[in-house]
Amino acid sequence: MNKLHINPGYCKGCLICVEICAPKAIKACGKINSRGYNLPIEDDMQRCSGCKLCEIVCPDFALAIETDETNTKKK
Ligand code: SF4
Ligand code: SF4
Repeated sequence: MNKLHINPGYCKGCLICVEICAPKAIKACGKINSRGYNLPIEDDMQRCSGCKLCEIVCPDFALAIETDETNTKKK
């Protein structure tokens, strides 16, 4: 299954990544961290297509999707 990796030192909680994810594989964690940010977390990565749009749109290079090729949906 694909995995979401967040660098909490870079993420500012803008949640553009969550907004861009059409299948809603990731979501806001709903908790404010010590820096005052609401970071994204995995919701249901079974829904993740591995498109990496979330990674591409992140303005802070805070997010990476590790794709499991055996589990990535074919286009
Ligand atoms: S787009 Fe980047 S900075 Fe914004 S919440 Fe997502 S990971 Fe964090
Ligand atoms: S890679 Fe695509 S489907 Fe997966 S979490 Fe990111 S935007 Fe959503």
